[in-house]
Amino acid sequence: MAENLMKLEVTTPERIFYDDDVKMVELTTTEGDVGILPQHIPTTMIVAPGILTITEKDGQKKEAGLMSGFIEITKTKVSILAEVAEWPGDIDPQRAARAKERAERRLQSHETGVDMQRAELALRRSLVRRKLKK
Ligand code: ATP
Repeated sequence: MAENLMKLEVTTPERIFYDDDVKMVELTTTEGDVGILPQHIPTTMIVAPGILTITEKDGQKKEAGLMSGFIEITKTKVSILAEVAEWPGDIDPQRAARAKERAERRLQSHETGVDMQRAELALRRSLVRRKLKK
C-alpha cells in the first residue's frame, strides 16, 4: 500500500458499507471531530452522530451519515463498526423532519419520564440526516 493510503472498512449489521483504500477519514467521536491520516497512532474511539467524510484514493470526497459505533485505528487501517451508516440517497428527509420534531417536543416537555439524553441523541441524528441531504 502506498505511504499516503490506508484501508477503510465500515461495516454495519446489514452490510459492508465501505471497503477501500483511502487518503483521509473525518468523523465525529464522543471526544469531538477528528481527522485520521495514514500512520495514525493506534487507538480506539466511539462514534457520535455526525458526517463521515472520506477522501478517496483518487482525491474525491464522499459523505455519509454515521450515527453510532466503534472505531479502531491502526497505522494502516481504520475499522468502523457502525450501528447505522447511511449514504445521502438512503435518507428519507420527511422521516428525518418528523424525528426532529418529535425530539424537540420531548426536549421541551417538562414531563417526568422523558429520557433527555435519548431525545438529545435523536435530535442530533435528525440534524445530521438533514445536513447530509442538502
Ligand atoms: P426514527 O425516529 O425516524 O426511527 P432514529 O434516529 O431513531 O429515527 P436510528 O435508530 O438512527 O433512527 O435508525 C434506525 C434505522 O432506521 C436505521 O436502519 C436507519 O438507517 C433508518 N433510518 C432512520 N431515519 C431514517 C431516515 N430519515 N431515512 C432513512 N432511513 C432512516
